[in-house]
Amino acid sequence: MKNLLWLQGLSCGGNSQSFLSGESYKLDVFFNEINLIWHPDISWDIEVNEILKKIFSGSIKINFLIIEGAVTGNKRIHRIGKYSLKYILNKLKDKVDYIIAVGNCAVHGNYTYHKNKKDITGVQFTPDGKRGFLPKKFKTKKNYPVINITGCPAHPEWIINTILTLIQGKEIKLDRYNRPKELFMYLSHDGCIRNEYFEWKVEATSMGTKEGCLFYEFGCRGPLTHSPCNKILWNNVSSKTRAGTPCLGCTEFDFPLRENYFTTKRNMGIPDEVPIGISKRAYIMITGVAKSFKNERLIKKLEDTD
Ligand code: SF4
Repeated sequence: MKNLLWLQGLSCGGNSQSFLSGESYKLDVFFNEINLIWHPDISWDIEVNEILKKIFSGSIKINFLIIEGAVTGNKRIHRIGKYSLKYILNKLKDKVDYIIAVGNCAVHGNYTYHKNKKDITGVQFTPDGKRGFLPKKFKTKKNYPVINITGCPAHPEWIINTILTLIQGKEIKLDRYNRPKELFMYLSHDGCIRNEYFEWKVEATSMGTKEGCLFYEFGCRGPLTHSPCNKILWNNVSSKTRAGTPCLGCTEFDFPLRENYFTTKRNMGIPDEVPIGISKRAYIMITGVAKSFKNERLIKKLEDTD
């Protein structure tokens, strides 16, 4: 069994809520492998100062340290028991096998960083680059930097998959934001059931409907956002775009500073940002071709098609 400690910095607790409400067929396997030493939302019977003292002294060893929430050393803003998260991280950073930052606040500071850049950061990053609390070159005992799992919140399965992969001794490749590539090499657009509408440029007329793509009218960030939201579904059931809501791009580092969510900024009818990987010129040409033909099936209500 591997020991896991979950600590919360400055955060709304959304990643914990998401994780604890998650439905995953891997949960049994996960808890066969993992001994959860302490979690702020469920370890009510364990006094946090006591458990931290044992961990600091080495009488309890931690393999996985999960941080949810942004980091500060200012105890007037936030503390865990009598300690600041900065103090705890300093004590544990060289003792644990892996540090995993879960959710945007832990990864890059998110809302709280933009509120108070002097006192608050992510664990190893800020939204503008690697200027988080731990130095750029920092690596844990197992030779990994802080492994970042972005999202607001992160999907429970992304956390479980990452930990189980590491327990199996497999290597995890990371992208330039130190996110597991296996998860974040996909775009939220990949696997969206509206892809055919996207290809034929048939736009949704309102949110919440089954038909149409949400890119042109409703600001969907699916083609611009690295995340497997349409590959690993939420609670094995759905995703934002499947339910008819645009992807907000919450796994990217420019979240939440973008403005005008739900709208697509355009200039002379052309979106300011086009899908990753193609030029604006190519996008305009493909759109022109797609629009000059009609896919009859896609202009009907789905339930009216044969
Ligand atoms: S709704 Fe968004 S994710 Fe789905 S096909 Fe359209 S642009 Fe892609």
